[in-house]
Amino acid sequence: MAWYPGAVKMELQPESDSQPAIKPTQFILHSIVAPWTPQRTYEYWRDSTNLESHFGLGYDGTLGQYIGTETRADATGAANRRADGTGAVSLESASNLQASDPWTAAQVETLIKLGVWLHEKHGIPLRICRNASDPGFGYHRLFTAWNPDGHSCPGDARVKQFKEVVFPGIVARATGTTPPPEETHMPLTNADGDLVLDRFLAADKFDAPADATDYSDDPSKPGHYWSGRTVFRDLVTRVRNLTKSTDSLHSKIDALPVLAMTDAQIAALASAVAANPALAEQIAEKVAVKLAERLAD
Ligand SMILES: [Zn+2]
Repeated sequence: MAWYPGAVKMELQPESDSQPAIKPTQFILHSIVAPWTPQRTYEYWRDSTNLESHFGLGYDGTLGQYIGTETRADATGAANRRADGTGAVSLESASNLQASDPWTAAQVETLIKLGVWLHEKHGIPLRICRNASDPGFGYHRLFTAWNPDGHSCPGDARVKQFKEVVFPGIVARATGTTPPPEETHMPLTNADGDLVLDRFLAADKFDAPADATDYSDDPSKPGHYWSGRTVFRDLVTRVRNLTKSTDSLHSKIDALPVLAMTDAQIAALASAVAANPALAEQIAEKVAVKLAERLAD
């Protein structure tokens, strides 16, 4: 029998003596759907049911142990003890009456410490169980074999915490590494936005166009890179100039004299072109030259 030094020993009898030994290969977390202290959980196991977990965790992070970790406890269905003598260490934790609240920071810290101890003491491997009998770490609803009644235990918030905080915390603590920081989505303030914009405009990181008057081939010279501000000023200037020149082009086109041909002249031209297809090309060339002359005025 093994008793965790970080827990208050509240040995549950007769189960502690009467239940068979296990080789602990898994650690499985539960929520007890009541805001109970370890003492209250102990009384519940002792007085109201023949079920029990190895550990009970209060909201304040205090821990009680009711059964040694090498003795079967009955909280997790088929994982309590398998035919090969392996079994799961189980922990019930205080929760609200819907088991919808997350573990408190104090609970998380106790879970991580206990997880590290179980890894070191019993060699429970640092992985999430891949199937119901696979050695590792898990939570009650992870496998139907553990949870034949289909409870949502330990609740959505705690399943998320298990994956993102508790299990990575156990691994980090046991291996002496720091887990990657949890991804957070911080809203961008107006001041942040201004700062990003200022940096963008001030950054001399844009390739200057080679036809710029101060362009330099040499990346160490000022003319080689432009700031964001210069790029945008150049773009705006070019677009405005382009608008001016197309406006002027349009007014010149509008001013061109309208061709005043009679229907008879058009018919004559059409039959001339039909008789001599090369004529059409000559006419088009002449018209294009005339047009270009007019537009250049
Ligand atoms: Zn459970």
